[in-house]
Amino acid sequence: MDCQDVKTYLMAYIDGEIDSQKKSEIEKHLSGCEKCIKEYRSFLKLKEVTEKMKFTDLSDELWAGYWKGIYRRVERSAGWIFLSIGAIILLAFGVFQFFKEFFTDPSVSLIVKMGVGAFSLGIIILLVSIIRERLFLFRTERYREVER
Ligand SMILES: [Zn+2]
Repeated sequence: MDCQDVKTYLMAYIDGEIDSQKKSEIEKHLSGCEKCIKEYRSFLKLKEVTEKMKFTDLSDELWAGYWKGIYRRVERSAGWIFLSIGAIILLAFGVFQFFKEFFTDPSVSLIVKMGVGAFSLGIIILLVSIIRERLFLFRTERYREVER
């Protein structure tokens, strides 16, 4: 095998896509030829660079996953906000229905009605907030168990 043959098969040799007979011929030549050893080293570098480029492609996918993750988080928090607002409205409506006689009683002054209304609304909002916090903690603890 001369230098030209080695050059022809060098890339295949580096990729390991060559039969064992050619492989040993190339190795025999490389052990005695400075010029081909240099060629071999530069091919190895080229392969390294190509593989690094493959890694860059892979990290593109990771970035896509990252943005998907952000989108999901935004979606989730929007979900939580609407869930909370909905729960507050429904609970407030329920409380209003339950104390309808009180709220529609003309003998009770508006100030007292407003006071009771604001008080109930405050309790409802706190309740929803606490439930949300509990759910969040529950979820986080479950994640921690998975990590362990
Ligand atoms: Zn050579």
